Amino acid sequence: MAQTPRYRFAPSPTGYFHVGGARTALYNWILALQTSGVFVLRIEDTDDSRNNPQWTQGIIDALAWLGIDGSDSHFEGPYFQSANAALHVAAAEKLFAQGKAYYCDLTTEDIQKRAKESGKQSERQGYDGYSRDRGLGPGPGHVLRFRVPQGKTVVKDQVRGEVEFDNSTIEDFVLLRSNGSPVFLIANVVDDINQGITHVVRAEEHLPNAPKQQMIWDALGSTPPSWAHVPVLVNEQRKKLSKRRDKVAVEQYREEGILADAMKNYLMTLGWAPTGDTEIVPFQKIVDEFALGSVNHSPAFFDIVKMQSFNAEYIRAMTVDEFIAACEVWLTGERAPWKQADYDAKVFAEIAPLVQTRVQLLQDVPSMVDFLFCEMPAIDEASYVKAFSADWAGPTLLAIREGFKNCEWKADSLKAVVEKIGEENSLKLGKLQAPLRVAVTGRSVGPPLFEPIELLGRDATIKRIDAVLAKKVS
Ligand code: GLU
Repeated sequence: MAQTPRYRFAPSPTGYFHVGGARTALYNWILALQTSGVFVLRIEDTDDSRNNPQWTQGIIDALAWLGIDGSDSHFEGPYFQSANAALHVAAAEKLFAQGKAYYCDLTTEDIQKRAKESGKQSERQGYDGYSRDRGLGPGPGHVLRFRVPQGKTVVKDQVRGEVEFDNSTIEDFVLLRSNGSPVFLIANVVDDINQGITHVVRAEEHLPNAPKQQMIWDALGSTPPSWAHVPVLVNEQRKKLSKRRDKVAVEQYREEGILADAMKNYLMTLGWAPTGDTEIVPFQKIVDEFALGSVNHSPAFFDIVKMQSFNAEYIRAMTVDEFIAACEVWLTGERAPWKQADYDAKVFAEIAPLVQTRVQLLQDVPSMVDFLFCEMPAIDEASYVKAFSADWAGPTLLAIREGFKNCEWKADSLKAVVEKIGEENSLKLGKLQAPLRVAVTGRSVGPPLFEPIELLGRDATIKRIDAVLAKKVS
């Protein structure tokens, strides 16, 4: 029987969950789904100085939000690398016992000094193999180094093809530090071997590690995995996305109201595209079509504006009830900008279809409707100045007020009143309604105006117009 493919995602919990990490996780997840394989989540938490349980939980929660968690039978874990430290050390010691690794007592300064003194640059970068045959054992200040064999190492990569490394360019790298702790290279391989990993799909920055790790796999008597190193994500300046410079946290986008489905779909279009004339497709189509062999080799631009437009499409594709449910956290509880007593879910339900067609991020929903849930809106000064700078603004708003006093209180009739005044003054509706919008909503932009005015009611609307007209006069 063929072996079940086992993929893994192995993040180090050193910060918020990076969108690049999310893409790598999705690749592994999709491949596991395609092949009836397994997706192993392994938290590589061995760097005590940088790890934090909060980041670990953040990764687990963000993956679950993307639909990658134990509720699906393809998921396995999470495993924690720190729990396996003894296995990492045992594997390193096995390599020593077999002569495939050796101890060395040179300090970094010693190594630099030797490199300088040797006059000619050693073929191996950095360390020159000084202790290879000195027969040292473990001891204070001794590191364990891997004895890199002669020859070449060919990494068969599903994205990059065959990548050949000349072993003479790879120094005898460290497996155990002088304090006995294992380094990433061996911890990562030993966990992969013990967890039966058959496919390593990860970020391109790990490609230089692949030949070293493949040698460790071989030395430990295991068959190396199938490799795939996926191109990095870059910002608008084509610089690699960085935590310090760019907005990269999945958690942050989630807070802003990017939908998980939109984010998944968008991330999967970076360096790859589904067939057909639109990139916005059901996740199942991506699962059906995705192939590592068709992932682009060059870095992919993570375009926030494009992700938001994907999000807007996903929002529009929801039913109104789904949209209302998705907005819930922004409308009630601590994120809501109004007092709960002022909020009326029925009023929101009435206006929701208008908001749904206009919003890109769910976090922007409250500011589009807050004027419905307060006594008087706060007037944005810049919007006010702009809307009332023309000398027709005050008189026409007054005329609108008069028209509103007796007309039928329905959006269409309200609009007709304003249109008529527009005709009389040779003003287009868009222009004429600007002062009215500022009076009613406090802002110059928002959803269509007349439905909300209908919801607000005659008395409240007239009161708001009066307040702004009074402000104008004063
Ligand atoms: N823990 C490593 C990282 O977060 C990943 C190693 C791997 O995928 O092999 O960069």
